[in-house]
Amino acid sequence: MRIVVLAGGIGGARFLRGLTSAAPDADITVIGNTGDDIHLFGLKVCPDLDTVMYTLGGGIHEEQGWGRADETFAVKEELAAYGVGPEWFGLGDRDFATHIVRTQMIAAGYPLSAVTEALCERWRPGVRLLPMTDDRVETHVLIDTEDGGRKAVHFQEYWVRLRASVPAHAVVPVGAEQAKPAPGVLEALAAADVVLFPPSNPVVSVGTILAVPGIREAVVETAAPVVGLSPIIGDAPVRGMADKVLAAVGVESTAAAVAEHYGSDLLDGWLVDRTDAAAVERVTAAGIRCRAVPLLMTDTAATAAMAREALALAEEVRP
Ligand code: GDP
Ligand code: CA
Repeated sequence: MRIVVLAGGIGGARFLRGLTSAAPDADITVIGNTGDDIHLFGLKVCPDLDTVMYTLGGGIHEEQGWGRADETFAVKEELAAYGVGPEWFGLGDRDFATHIVRTQMIAAGYPLSAVTEALCERWRPGVRLLPMTDDRVETHVLIDTEDGGRKAVHFQEYWVRLRASVPAHAVVPVGAEQAKPAPGVLEALAAADVVLFPPSNPVVSVGTILAVPGIREAVVETAAPVVGLSPIIGDAPVRGMADKVLAAVGVESTAAAVAEHYGSDLLDGWLVDRTDAAAVERVTAAGIRCRAVPLLMTDTAATAAMAREALALAEEVRP
């Protein structure tokens, strides 16, 4: 079975660990968000691709959910001693090596998709990991300035430095309109047996992937059933600040509103948490088959059970 998953960072990566456990023989292609990518200290950093790669490859910092296990921060401390920032973005020594290899290969002319494939030769994530595009797309967030104006900042500045503590007025994937899907992305969607939206951020992860021209259309047109899992439980994100960017695009933070935001053009099925069983009726009324099941990724077994529910729902809605 060919499964395609549109994934952000932590939520996407953890779900994928459950999916690979639930469907060990499946051929899984992951289309990863690159709108969060940032250049730091001259290096190209791809937080979401790396979170997927490290999580599935056994190198992730488990409690934190991102970055490397057994990490040290000597380089960061030395940079700080030179007064070279930003200090708010934590890059550890082990992690630095990934970004050095990536930046070196890009400078040598390799596209990000080829670089990602090369990095995965070490990590062997057990899935085919594709960036959504080889082109530069950078998510910017429009926020208030102290003098009453507005300015656009890089997503990481809004998310990591400001902890999404200031109101966001708009989220813009800069460059998306000119971007082309990376090699293999459209082909994977066309050939898929099932397409899954994991519990990833609907705006700045899955939304950014869908903003690359051709990808949304390929999800709409694929013959495969498309099933999503809600990242919102009990009217709040399970972790992180997805409510803030949902508000910026005018979507309330409920499992039902997120399903309606994707819409029945994209989604054939939607899973909500048991807590949100009351949402099933509203999602069904929007033309999306919906079921309430446990959606907390507490461990791999619980996450694998979620993946099995998603695959079962996909069979039910298969055209
Ligand atoms: P990011 O790039 O690291 O922000 O990661 P993603 O875009 O993949 O996912 C973040 C989303 O995952 C957040 O909106 C969380 O609410 C959601 N999430 C995290 N853990 C869980 C969980 O255990 N269950 C569910 N349903 N959602 C989760
Ligand atoms: Ca992300």
